[in-house]
Parts: sequence; C-alpha cells; structure tokens
Amino acid sequence: DVTHGRILYLEDVHVSFDGFKAINGLNLDIAPGELRCIIGPNGAGKTTMMDIITGKTRPDSGTVYFGSTIDLLRYKEPEIAAMGIGRKFQKPTVFEELSVFENLELALKTHKGLAASMLFKLSGTQNDRIAEVLHTIHLAGSVTRQAGLLSHGQKQWLEIGMLLVQEPKLLLLDEPVAGMTDEETVRTAELFLTLKGKHSLMVVEHDMSFIDTISEKVTVLCDGSVLAEGTLAEVQADERVIEVYLGR
Ligand code: ADP
Repeated sequence: DVTHGRILYLEDVHVSFDGFKAINGLNLDIAPGELRCIIGPNGAGKTTMMDIITGKTRPDSGTVYFGSTIDLLRYKEPEIAAMGIGRKFQKPTVFEELSVFENLELALKTHKGLAASMLFKLSGTQNDRIAEVLHTIHLAGSVTRQAGLLSHGQKQWLEIGMLLVQEPKLLLLDEPVAGMTDEETVRTAELFLTLKGKHSLMVVEHDMSFIDTISEKVTVLCDGSVLAEGTLAEVQADERVIEVYLGR
C-alpha cells in the first residue's frame, strides 16, 4: 500500500505546458479528516494541482491516489466527482432564481441521478441531510430566500452546501474567503472546523489571517513543487518561503 492510509496521495507528479514545467516533482499527502491549507505565489501550480486531482488535467508522469485503492489517473472528471471529490471554484455559482432550499435540492438530485423535476419528492433522509447542511452553512434562517438576494459570503456558503449534500470525502476549495467581510471570514473558519474530521479539505487561500484562525498544517507550493510544510508560523519563518514572497 503506497498511500499509507492517506485520503489523497501524490508522488513525483509532473506536468508541462509547451515545455514549461507547471508541476515539477510534486509530492503531497492528505490524511482522512485533515484540513490542509495550500499557499504559494501566483504561478506556483496550485490551480494545476487541483486540475490534476479532479481529472481536468492529465499529468505527464507520477502517481495520484484517492484512498489506498483508487488510481485517479485511470478516471475521467465526472467519475472522479461521483467518487466523492468536490471542487469549489473561486467565484460562487448558485442558481440565482431558485431559493436556498431549491439549490440544495437540485444539487442532491443531480448527484443521485434523479430527475431535477420539483414533482420528484425527496426522501425523509434526504430532507434531513439538507436540514443538517443548512444549519452547518449558517443558512437555516434563509431556507426560502432567493439565492440571488444572498450576500457574497452567503452565496459561497450555499455553494459549499451544494457540495456537502453530495457527502464528499474530499473537498477542494479555491480562495473561499476572497471578497468576504471580516465577519463572514470568521464564520467560514468556524464552518471549515466543523467540516474537518467528517470530510478532508484542501483549501487554497491567500488570506494569512484566515489561515491563522483555522491554524492547520500549511503547504507552500512554488515552481510546481512543495517548498515548505508546517504550521503557519513555521513556514512564515522559513527563509526560502520569505525569499519567494519578498524576493521576487
Ligand atoms: P497558481 O494557481 O498557483 O497561480 P497555476 O497552476 O495556475 O498557478 O499555473 C502554474 C503555471 O502554469 C503558470 O505559470 C501558468 O501560466 C502555467 N499554466 C497553467 N495552465 C496552463 C495552460 N493550460 N497552458 C499553458 N500554461 C499554463
């Protein structure tokens, strides 16, 4: 077992675009239930790494495992999503015309392969799951509210909720607190700490005070591989990291 009980395991992954090495010998592993923060300067390879994990980009070489048995390089993007790897892009994409509840209902029906028709009733268990998610994403008081009328932060939470109703094992989140108010940022930190343990999370974020609040292990990517790993304080004190952020 090469993965040593990890939920996600990358070893010596390489990707070039027209000869440019975007990912260059990347090694990374995430433990089940872990909340991992990924930082790194622009062009470090953060987006490309998430593209590889979700099957959007095929690496030239390397190993990418989900759990101990699933070789992700053998699967296509929709199959990987169906296995329980959810991805959230930076900008919120909710159905603005639908209510908060209807957005979650649609996400659940789509995942289960059910007809999206409102005539198709959810089971008691599915309704319970939605109620639980509404509570987790701080929107239990806005069930019937039209999604287009939510604040930016609430839309981000709703989109996270649309992933959560599908009960993902691993969530990849790209700059989740960008554009949020300070209060929304604090509540997002609470949300992630609630999700940790039940799900594994990989969070790409530039907001260092947010990372400090959730205070989890940080991986610094640079030039397509891992430059440093540790607590935020440890990586911020690392001279190579300081050089990358200040010296370029
Ligand atoms: P980050 O998300 O850390 O800013 P990216 O993964 O977006 O970094 O990009 C890593 C490098 O690879 C960048 O230099 C970028 O220009 C390059 N790159 C990414 N995708 C492509 C592509 N499809 N074609 C060519 N170059 C790309």
